Amino acid sequence: MKFSLTILGSSSAVPTASRNTTAHVLNVHERFFLIDCGEATQIQFRKFRIRFGRVHQIFISHLHSDHILGLFGYLATQTLIGRKKEIEIFGPPDLEKFVRNHFALFPESLILPVVFHSLDQSGICKIFEDKAVEVFSFPVKHRVPTWGFLFREKFNGRNNLNREPRTYAFCTDTIFDPSLAAYFKGCDLLYHEATYGNKELSRAISTAHSTAKQAAEMAQLAGAKQLLIGHFSARYKDTTGLLDEAREIFANTIEAIDGLTIDIPEQG
Ligand SMILES: [Zn+2]
Repeated sequence: MKFSLTILGSSSAVPTASRNTTAHVLNVHERFFLIDCGEATQIQFRKFRIRFGRVHQIFISHLHSDHILGLFGYLATQTLIGRKKEIEIFGPPDLEKFVRNHFALFPESLILPVVFHSLDQSGICKIFEDKAVEVFSFPVKHRVPTWGFLFREKFNGRNNLNREPRTYAFCTDTIFDPSLAAYFKGCDLLYHEATYGNKELSRAISTAHSTAKQAAEMAQLAGAKQLLIGHFSARYKDTTGLLDEAREIFANTIEAIDGLTIDIPEQG
């Protein structure tokens, strides 16, 4: 049974020729979940051959443009290609207003049913559940209200093979905060933003972002099995230094690259 993550965008605020802004697709038992939707996410779906009609739930971490600009094009295209199936969007309370105001100007371009669910800042909350997965949101610390997400595989009669459920934690954009580790203790794969290298620590702090070293410290604190760093500042043409910095602390670190798929195998 699949539990795999595909990176559609790995850059922070500004896209580059090789890195789009944030979007991830998680495949849990052939159910597809989109996490954040940076500009041109729909083109990344085409490029990496994922059928976007298979996504029924979208999770948005916060209302900064590098995480939401793709939503408008994505939803408009779904309408154009005749999608009738409902899409659920989980995000900050103001997201619905944001999206509906946009489409109020082009009413014919959002005919498909969209249901919005507002995230809660009070702690970890279960926000979605189906046969394959449970999804939790948790607040992180950025300049605007921002959430991370934890996806935990669910067992049913057919796939309960006496093993641990696989988990994926998505943690961006946030200042380094050790208390967040409690939300994703022991996760199989932790995605943590690493916008800067440690030389830019003061910039990371002033913009409420993290460094690669801090992402690694978070993986260590959480006892994660694998760390995936991303959301790189466009200033890093070569991200090897960021990867090295993280690996000094947490050896099992990989870097997000657009188009990369990470399979989390069944174990135990
Ligand atoms: Zn961002």
